[in-house]
Amino acid sequence: MSRVFNFSAGPAMLPTEVIQQAQQEILDWNGSGMSVMEMSHRGKEFIEIASTAEADLRELLAIPDNYKVLFLQGGASTQFAMVPLNLMDRTGKADYANTGAWSKKAISEGKRFGEVNICASSEEDGFNSVPAFDSWNLSSDASYVHITPNETIGGVVYQGLPDTGDVPIVADMSSTILSRPTNVSDYGIIYTGAQKNIGPAGLTIVIVREDLIGQAGDSCPTMLNYATHDKADSMANTPPTYSWYLAGLVFKWLKDKGGLSAMAEINERKASKLYAAIDGNDFYSNPVAIQNRSWMNVPFILKDADLDASFLEGAKELGLMTLKGHRSVGGMRASIYNAMPEEGVDTLIQYMNDFAAKNG
Ligand SMILES: *Cc1c(COP(=O)(O)O)cnc(C)c1O
Repeated sequence: MSRVFNFSAGPAMLPTEVIQQAQQEILDWNGSGMSVMEMSHRGKEFIEIASTAEADLRELLAIPDNYKVLFLQGGASTQFAMVPLNLMDRTGKADYANTGAWSKKAISEGKRFGEVNICASSEEDGFNSVPAFDSWNLSSDASYVHITPNETIGGVVYQGLPDTGDVPIVADMSSTILSRPTNVSDYGIIYTGAQKNIGPAGLTIVIVREDLIGQAGDSCPTMLNYATHDKADSMANTPPTYSWYLAGLVFKWLKDKGGLSAMAEINERKASKLYAAIDGNDFYSNPVAIQNRSWMNVPFILKDADLDASFLEGAKELGLMTLKGHRSVGGMRASIYNAMPEEGVDTLIQYMNDFAAKNG
């Protein structure tokens, strides 16, 4: 067996142990004589899988009792519409911070449902930082403030949060959830697609404060209303059962590793040494403001873009895959989520040093 180090931004690597456990259980889950893929979502076996996954996620993130966890479909992109559909009617307007490509998508969808105030933007600096919170132009009558705490494409992360008073913060945590401890009660809603740091594609997790459920207008489609999914324990229709099960295996894996404080330590170490390798060699650069550099997505450019193809070619020979940067940024991007072993980052750094020595 040879598994590569896959630096894809998503779908991303899963822990090998998790895939092996799924492999062992694939034909017969726990003596049921069935694959999880074949089970009724209403049967007692799947209900046990589903509720154990939720309980483990709640434990990992210390989710308070007044928050619901919804296991949905449609990806984070569907939340760009579900959030305003469920919350915008409160006042008819919302604040959005514009810090990168994913914020922009959330903003253009939000505009379909009400007045969008861009409360902060780093677009003029090329999305290389998060504007200082004391410069934010927040509206006191916003239904919510939407932020993207980790911009997956630009590799930009928030340090701290703006003080929004009573206005709930809605956070697209698709590429940072579970990378470190998070104080859930700082947020009204946290949403994330699973395929970056949780499990396979097809599952979308929404953590929502109870009082924000049931506020959608009458025209909100039933299946886009948080209340529908809350009432039905995320089984208003057939949920993505296999992805839910695999997410549950990842939650157990994270608990075995010591939970999110342990992950934070490893993630910080992985990111620091990669940034040190970039900063320590003029051959490489990263344009993001130091305090906003992402732990999860590390873009870097080579001194000479003509060498990109040969860099990628040589990387592939060492099993370092999917390092090509997003087309809007160019260069390289190493996504180093929880499941990327430290050895993968070490191998990449060694390769970067060797490549620069040969071509610099
Ligand atoms: C990947 C990503 C999305 C899109 O997620 P889908 O699940 O593919 O819809 C949205 N926001 C952020 C921050 C992302 O990283």
